[in-house]
Amino acid sequence: MLYEYECEGGHRFEEIHSIADRNNVDCPDCKRAVHIRISVPRKPLIAHTFTTIGHDGKVIGQKQTTERTPLKVWGRKSGKEFNL
Ligand SMILES: [Zn+2]
Repeated sequence: MLYEYECEGGHRFEEIHSIADRNNVDCPDCKRAVHIRISVPRKPLIAHTFTTIGHDGKVIGQKQTTERTPLKVWGRKSGKEFNL
């Protein structure tokens, strides 16, 4: 489990511990007692591939990003932007 800690001096850090060891942690900076803030599920970033296809069906461009951008679609008639 990955836990996020905050010490009494305000330092924040993340460490991986088993549940049994999660309370046996001191701040690596000031060695003070720490509080568990949250257990962080570490999700891998999903790589999105954007492919641009021309009128003849050929791929004219491709780029990949790992940014978490909301999927946006332009309505054909209204031209209005909305989020899926
Ligand atoms: Zn500290």
